Amino acid sequence: MKLLSINAGSSTLKFRLYEMPEEKILTKGAFECIGTENGEYTIRVGDKKIHKEAQLDDHNDAVRILLEELVSNHIVTNLNEIEAVGHRIVHGGNKYSKSVEITRRVLKEIESISDLAPLHNPAAINGVRAFMEAIPNASMVACFDTAFHQTIEDADYLYPIPYEWYIKYDVRKYGFHGLSHKFITEKMTSILKKKPNLIICHIGNGASISAIKEGVCIDTSMGFTPNAGIMMGTRCGDIDYSIINYIMKKEERNLEWVDHKLNKDSGLQGITGMNDLRDIDRAYYANDQKVLLAITMYTNKIVDYIAKYFVKLGGKVDAICFTAGGGENDDIIRKETIQKLYPLGISIDEDKNKETIVRKGCEGIISDENSSIPVYVLATDEELMIARDTYEIINQKKTINE
Ligand code: ADP
Repeated sequence: MKLLSINAGSSTLKFRLYEMPEEKILTKGAFECIGTENGEYTIRVGDKKIHKEAQLDDHNDAVRILLEELVSNHIVTNLNEIEAVGHRIVHGGNKYSKSVEITRRVLKEIESISDLAPLHNPAAINGVRAFMEAIPNASMVACFDTAFHQTIEDADYLYPIPYEWYIKYDVRKYGFHGLSHKFITEKMTSILKKKPNLIICHIGNGASISAIKEGVCIDTSMGFTPNAGIMMGTRCGDIDYSIINYIMKKEERNLEWVDHKLNKDSGLQGITGMNDLRDIDRAYYANDQKVLLAITMYTNKIVDYIAKYFVKLGGKVDAICFTAGGGENDDIIRKETIQKLYPLGISIDEDKNKETIVRKGCEGIISDENSSIPVYVLATDEELMIARDTYEIINQKKTINE
C-alpha cells in the first residue's frame, strides 16, 4: 500500500511517500514559505534531491504540485495508487488517545479544539482539506502529538488552579512529541521483548521527557502548551508565572511581547544568544562561560525530570533513552546529564558516548557495564510512526470490509 505521511505547519508541508508494510520511502521532501512570495520545495527523485521555486499561495498549491511531481517523475503511475494520507495533528485535546480515520465529524472536532493549538491545528487542517480535495478516494488519518500522553492520570495532568478552568476550558497538561515518545517506546519494547519502564528524553530544539510504565505513558514534562517542562532551544519551560506580570510592568510591554520572548528568546537562546546545540557545543569547547552556564542549567533540568520519574516509576527503570536531534547527536549534553545521575548508580562509557552518533549511523547503549540502568541513544522517526498508524487503521478497515 502506498501512503503519504504529512506534517503541515503554517508555512510548510513536509512529506514522505511510503510503500507499506515494507516501510520503504519512495520519496520525501518539503514545501516551504507557503503563503509568501518566496515559495520553494524539494523532492527526492531516485538519488537526486530536486529543488524548485514555485508560487505557493496556500497549502492547496503545495499539494497540487506534490501530486504532479509524483506522477511526472513516475514515482506513482496513477494518483489512485495513494490509498491513504496520514497527517500529523499537534493537538487532539481530551478527545483522542490514538490516531483515527478523519471523517467530517473528526475534522469538526479537530477544528473545535483549535483554540488549544492556534498556531498548529489550523495549518494541519488546511493540509487535510487540500488532500481531501485533490485525492478524494484516499483515506485520511489524523495522528496526534498529544494522543500518547492521554494515559496520564488526573492527579498528574491537573494543575493546582481553579478546577472549573479544567471543566470549562480544558486547562490541563496534554504533553507533546507523543509520536516520538510512542516510536521510542515501541522500539524499546521490541529490543527488550517486554512492555518496558522507560524514561525517554526527546532533546530537539523543543524538548520533552516522558515516564513510561509497562509501555504506557504515566507522565511527561510538556504541559498545556509545548512551553512547559525543561529549558529548550528558545523556550523557557517551567518558570514562576509571576515573572510575566513583573516584566510587562518593567518593560512597559503587552502580554504578546512577553509571550514571544518566553517562546522565542529564552532557553539556550536567552542565556547564550544561540539556540542550536551544534553552535553551543563549539562554544563549549572554546570554554565560553555563558555557554558553560547554559549547559549546566539545561542538563540540571533534564536531571530533575529523570530523578522525578525514577521515583514515579518506583525505582524500576529498564532504560533511559535519548532521542531527537540533540539526544541522538549531542554527546556533551548526554555526558553532562549522565554524570549528574551518579547518585542513582548510573554511569557512562565515555568512548561509547562519543561514538554513538545517530547522524553517523550509530545507535545503542552509552552507559558502562556497572550502570544500574542502561542508557540508550535511539533514532526517532515521527514520519514513520504516522505511516505505521495510518497503515494499521486503513489495513484493519480493509480487512473488515473484505
Ligand atoms: P525540532 O523538531 O524540535 O527542531 P530536532 O529533533 O530536529 O528538533 O532537533 C533539532 C536540534 O537538534 C537542533 O536545533 C540542534 O540543537 C540539535 N542537533 C542536530 N544535530 C546535532 C548535532 N550533530 N550535534 C548536536 N546537536 C544537534
